[in-house]
Amino acid sequence: MAKELGHFIDGRQVPGTSGRFGPLYNPATGEQTGQVALAGAEEVDRAVQAAKRAQPAWEALPIIRRTRVMFRYKELIEQNLERIARIITEEHGKTLEDAKGSVIRGLEVVEFACGAPHLLKGEFSHQVGTGVDIVSQRYPLGVCAGITPFNFPAMIPLWMAPLALVAGNGFVLKPSEKTPSAPMLLAELALEAGVPEGLFNVVNGDKEAVDALLRHPDVAAISFVGSTPVAEYVWRTGTAAGKRVQALGGAKNHMVIMPDADMDQAVDALFGAAYGSAGERCMAVSVAVPVGEKTADALIERLAPRVRQLKIGPGLEPGVEMGPLVTREHRDRVVRYIEIGVEEGAELVVDGREITMQGYEGGFFLGGTLFDRVTPEMRIYKEEIFGPVLSVVRMPDLERALRIVNDHPYGNGVAIFTRDGGVARQFANAVKIGMVGINVPIPVPVAYHSFGGWKRSLFGDHHAHGVEGLRFYTRLKAVTLRWPDKPLGAEFVIPTLG
Ligand code: NAD
Repeated sequence: MAKELGHFIDGRQVPGTSGRFGPLYNPATGEQTGQVALAGAEEVDRAVQAAKRAQPAWEALPIIRRTRVMFRYKELIEQNLERIARIITEEHGKTLEDAKGSVIRGLEVVEFACGAPHLLKGEFSHQVGTGVDIVSQRYPLGVCAGITPFNFPAMIPLWMAPLALVAGNGFVLKPSEKTPSAPMLLAELALEAGVPEGLFNVVNGDKEAVDALLRHPDVAAISFVGSTPVAEYVWRTGTAAGKRVQALGGAKNHMVIMPDADMDQAVDALFGAAYGSAGERCMAVSVAVPVGEKTADALIERLAPRVRQLKIGPGLEPGVEMGPLVTREHRDRVVRYIEIGVEEGAELVVDGREITMQGYEGGFFLGGTLFDRVTPEMRIYKEEIFGPVLSVVRMPDLERALRIVNDHPYGNGVAIFTRDGGVARQFANAVKIGMVGINVPIPVPVAYHSFGGWKRSLFGDHHAHGVEGLRFYTRLKAVTLRWPDKPLGAEFVIPTLG
């Protein structure tokens, strides 16, 4: 039977009422597997109202009780790991192992949330004036919302919901309409773990649902992850409406390969980082920058045969390295970029358009594509492609390699491969990018550090998860206390205590 997905509001699955639906596909076969309801403002309001009703009692609970729910949530996600990963593979297309890895990365944020009593314990200073103490304590914001992209259907909602909830907020998630099934399951598991009914809701939908969240007076804060134009729109509209907004956007991540790098290691790393998850990762390496002609020639010589031999197939099949793209439209968009690259004069070393998938002719497959001699003026260099297309930009020295990275409008991730500690340190200091890898191709920070880019890869002041995440979902109150045992008299000058 075809899948029919509604929303998860007030602790139960409810059908959509707007009359609008979006299609769901299995990208490996190209078949439509069902449809998902697309919420209008009325359904968004119901979800926000449910969270608003449930939030005060949740905030009033001792923090250790909210934390115990997170411990149970962690166990339930572990028990359902395989199930969540399969759902992701069937809807997104990435390989099962990759999907499992992404759930584990999300689970790490739940583990971090289990440390909330320590992380939120505030600060106290004794005797800041004679007989005066001060407490600085963080409070929840109320109802927070999360808007997430298609490419990490479990991990990115888990960057947000556990921290918002453990801090005492209600939460409304608006996942990507392309991959809504895993987020729905995550909300059900949260309920099973003990999150009260109505506190964590999922509204499925598209721009209409996003706009309803941006306009809603009871939404205090919005975490967004997706493409840069939408991130900027969400940030501008949300902040203009007086909301706190963190909006993580797109990327064009470079990997600089120095002449002294271990070339086997660098090629292995680049191969996985460029083509893993069909390049549909905001931390995928989409530009390789070999320094010096010899380095570039050695890189192409080793990488090109590997790209030609990529094992492409349905993500559930063992041994497959790369699955299909998420939708036919997205595949066609990536194909168009390959055509643009050819028109712009880049050297097409491996052409991913040439593959045929026997038995999966309807699937949204595209082979690994490799361009050499790409220049910074080309659109395939400037724009995010979000597919299995790697551009090699040859640079004569580190200074110019660093300059193109710093001049690029995106600033999510970057890596340098070198054996020289001094060069690596100098690069890490000078580079204008939010997440830097030294001989690490995809430097996604662990959950107790924070994830986020610079420049047009992030709008707002807070990165995701880690201490920054908890700060985002809370606001500070400072209480200055005095218990006088004699009359104080009126003070007409600003109190200086001490
Ligand atoms: P997207 O911007 O199309 O969609 C993201 C979310 O915004 C979805 O929930 C979608 O329904 C909603 N949306 C789409 N168009 C909208 C509009 N016009 N107005 C309001 N809301 C809208 O992104 P995507 O295609 O789902 O995901 C891929 C993008 O996400 C890539 O650009 C990738 O780099 C980026 N991404 C960034 C990070 C990061 O951490 N910086 C992580 C993952 C993905």
